Amino acid sequence: MDRICIDELKIFAHHGVFEHENINGQNFYVNAVLYVETEKAGLTDELEYSVDYGSVCKLIGEVLTANTYKLIETAAQEVAAAILNKFELIKAVDIELRKPEAPIPMDFGSVSVKIHREWHEALVAVGSNIGDSRTYISNAVEELSSSRYVKDLSLSELIVTKPYGYTDQPDFLNGAVKLRTMLTPHGLLDLLHEIENKADRKREIHWGPRTLDLDIIFYDNEVINEKELIVPHIDMHNRYFVLKPASELMPEYVHPVLKKTVRQLLKELESND
Ligand code: ADP
Ligand code: MG
Repeated sequence: MDRICIDELKIFAHHGVFEHENINGQNFYVNAVLYVETEKAGLTDELEYSVDYGSVCKLIGEVLTANTYKLIETAAQEVAAAILNKFELIKAVDIELRKPEAPIPMDFGSVSVKIHREWHEALVAVGSNIGDSRTYISNAVEELSSSRYVKDLSLSELIVTKPYGYTDQPDFLNGAVKLRTMLTPHGLLDLLHEIENKADRKREIHWGPRTLDLDIIFYDNEVINEKELIVPHIDMHNRYFVLKPASELMPEYVHPVLKKTVRQLLKELESND
């Protein structure tokens, strides 16, 4: 993808772990790479088809001067989040934040942090079978959509389904949410756990009754096999209550392990029953 680059934007700000840094301030330098398709702007010579780098610089300046962060990691994260949220045409950013006057009593050139952030597409399954399930789910969707790290949510129809696995429990209300996020899969999982915890979720019986369950079904085309995170969700192809809403939101998505579309997986599950 094409890139617009901003080099060594100098901003006087107050970030640092030490109090004297927060009081006195120092110079920071930002290198930003904005990933934007520029072909149309190139062919038409019209700014509306590209990104006004002046406004991006202004935004970087605002984020870095309006706040005081201890860490340059946080400052860079906030800059990336602000840019990705404000400029629709920017699909991804690299932010390098340099701090050449960092408090290190030695001779050095600079310390810096370099991060890459971009919008990823994810599908999250939602389920509930205790209390006011519809409210738990709509609150969860509200919480997700109010996160600065999430955008473009669409919620499937909610369906009532019989419990799966541990069957001696009330019926479930199930659905799915398609969204874009700049979080990593683990960052997204942490956010989902936070939202589950706010809904008084207790982890008692595996597959047991719950006020709110939020599972990552897909994340781009990634395949993750770790103890605490398996993506695509390990059992999604056997679960009607996942495939049905998934097929409403992304029927043509190809499962990166099974190499079948969601539509096909649903059809196969329905014909096996
Ligand atoms: P389940 O959803 O299987 O009924 P829980 O909601 O209690 O069970 O989740 C148990 C653990 O499953 C979570 O703490 C999480 O670390 C792990 N896990 C593994 N893969 C996923 C995934 N794709 N989405 C959500 N949680 C996952
Ligand atoms: Mg879960």
